[in-house]
Amino acid sequence: MKLEELPEEFIKAASVIDEIQQHDFEAYFVGGSVRDTLLGKTSHDVDIATSAYPEEIKQIFKRTVDVGIEHGTVLVLHGEESYEITTFRTESTYQDYRRPDSVTFVRSLEEDLKRRDFTINALAMEKNGQIIDLFNGLTDLADGMIRAVGNAKERFHEDALRMMRAVRFASQLDFAIEQETLNAIYTYHSLLSKISVERIAVEFSKLLLGKDRLKGLSPFIETGCYQSCPGLEGKGRELFCFSELPNRQIEEERQAWTLLVKELVIQPEEICPFLKEWKLSNQMIHDVTELSYGLTQRLQGEWLATDLFRLGLDLVLSVEELLFYYNQEVKLKETANKYEQLPIKSRKELAVTGNDLLTVINQKPGKWLGQLIDELEKKVVTGELVNEQEALLVYAKNQLNKEGK
Ligand code: ATP
Ligand code: MG
Repeated sequence: MKLEELPEEFIKAASVIDEIQQHDFEAYFVGGSVRDTLLGKTSHDVDIATSAYPEEIKQIFKRTVDVGIEHGTVLVLHGEESYEITTFRTESTYQDYRRPDSVTFVRSLEEDLKRRDFTINALAMEKNGQIIDLFNGLTDLADGMIRAVGNAKERFHEDALRMMRAVRFASQLDFAIEQETLNAIYTYHSLLSKISVERIAVEFSKLLLGKDRLKGLSPFIETGCYQSCPGLEGKGRELFCFSELPNRQIEEERQAWTLLVKELVIQPEEICPFLKEWKLSNQMIHDVTELSYGLTQRLQGEWLATDLFRLGLDLVLSVEELLFYYNQEVKLKETANKYEQLPIKSRKELAVTGNDLLTVINQKPGKWLGQLIDELEKKVVTGELVNEQEALLVYAKNQLNKEGK
């Protein structure tokens, strides 16, 4: 098969392949960009595989960066673009189910394609668009099948991460996992415990954000992969509930984790430890915690001014979008309007500061001051007090008198 019209990225990159060939080496487009182009998707970075060794690539191109030379990858800067060029390689004997003991550079494309995970990822393309398909990847691509290259059991035993990759590709591409490959995942799912949480999390979050989440979640649950993921052990039933949410693609990663946390019935104080186990960033943990709070509140009724104020517009709209998954009307415009009508949107806008209060109230600063500001802020947000210095100071003084301070 030959692709007659190549996307722009490949046309641009063809001169790099040309250059390598002029030095009597082979070079091809490989990996995800070939797969995605054949699926008619706009592809991302094009990856190039070559028979030239890294040192040879560095001699051919003037501007290069060693980005992963021990794996055979050299970054070639070419005009405005940069390309990862990786030497054909085989990976011999995996002792720990995750990293090859050694990478051996080879001159044969076939050897290189053989070590790749799935047939749809083991396609190569010549610079003119001619497809090289040694493992029937084109048929699997047409049939929507994820199939391991070679013996599935061996391949997952070598590198357990591939099982997570299988389920995430199923979700991203809306593909099914071929039976033998699925059986092999069922057999070896527990080897996932050997893989670092960070690498599992990358694949899992891609699964959650995929086009057809259910296509990935079902095998993830049925094969038992979840049993070896942080915080998911024994949570088959809850995960099944999660998989039953309307199967529309989730837009943001933080939304995906929020829906997951809710369906797993994780209590508010357990959200942070759960997400920490997944080694997510502090920003992500913060956002998911706030979104979870907001979603719980919003599912009980319309937005409260204090919650709009607490979350801020960005998180508020993100929560609002999640109502879709609970069959409720999503009111983005109305919510944004409500937010805009808040008397103040941050503490900075409050008409009094701690210093103002200390000037008129003759007392040493202490806990009372923070509590008083919290109260003033809340009353302004809810409209009980107008945001004017005079009025706020009067109120503050009265309050303190009342409390006998
Ligand atoms: P994406 O669109 O998510 O980048 P991709 O297929 O390009 O998908 P990468 O992780 O970028 O995935 O890997 C590039 C290629 O390297 C894959 O297409 C596959 O051929 C090979 N590959 C990646 N990870 C593995 C693995 N764990 N085992 C075997 N081959 C792999
Ligand atoms: Mg890629």
